[in-house]
Amino acid sequence: MKTTEMICINCPLGCSLTVTEEDGKLTVTGNTCKRGEAYAISEVTDPKRTVTSIVRVANRENTFVSVKTAAPITKSRMFEAMEQIRAASVNAPVRIGDIIIPDLLSETDLIATSNAD
Ligand code: SF4
Repeated sequence: MKTTEMICINCPLGCSLTVTEEDGKLTVTGNTCKRGEAYAISEVTDPKRTVTSIVRVANRENTFVSVKTAAPITKSRMFEAMEQIRAASVNAPVRIGDIIIPDLLSETDLIATSNAD
């Protein structure tokens, strides 16, 4: 039997979760709602994170837009994602919600979270 403990980060309540793995079956305790159970199982089997960063605006001097992945991506691929984000640039104007890199790592879009006029 293997147990993993973690804090649920899905809401400010921050429930202490325990995942118990026995005979290939996962059991979650400590959660107050179903979101906590889903989060705990995802953390043990396929952890994901939202990536936030900045991208250079090529046609404006010393200008960057903030960006984030539209959905969490596979945690183990975050460095690969950052390499693509660091190599990317965009031309102004940029509006919040614009897609900066479509289908990043074949997982989700990278979108702007700030404007550049
Ligand atoms: S288990 Fe539910 S109530 Fe508890 S922190 Fe997670 S989301 Fe919030």
